[in-house]
Amino acid sequence: MSDTLFSKIINREIPADILYEDEQALAFADINPQAPVHFLVIPKKPIATINDIEEEDREVVGHLYLVAAKLAKQMGFAEEGYRAVMNCNPYGGQTVYHLHLHVLAGKPMGWPPY
Ligand code: 5GP
Repeated sequence: MSDTLFSKIINREIPADILYEDEQALAFADINPQAPVHFLVIPKKPIATINDIEEEDREVVGHLYLVAAKLAKQMGFAEEGYRAVMNCNPYGGQTVYHLHLHVLAGKPMGWPPY
């Protein structure tokens, strides 16, 4: 897949408020927060959408949730709760075609999400 701006954030070609990094994943604050806390957890591997996850990606995709939960505990909102969601393609509301887990917290979330 072609590079997205998230690849540029991984490569430090554009700035971001980076919260966490390891060999497989990066977490950074969303530039347009939709809740008091809103960050994205992304794989370093450039997977475009949920539809493009392959068998070999099982571990890294699970890892994104482990990073989300680790940060939720560290940042102190794990117990009160949060939303962790991936948007897929236009009807899912996806705008950046590099897989990302949105983590939203700091206020009660509504359902349904539209
Ligand atoms: P999507 O709509 O694809 O599910 O989510 C993309 C998210 O990326 C949006 O919430 C948007 O605010 C965020 N975003 C877009 N461009 C940038 C950027 O340059 N930096 C950061 N930190 N977030 C971005």
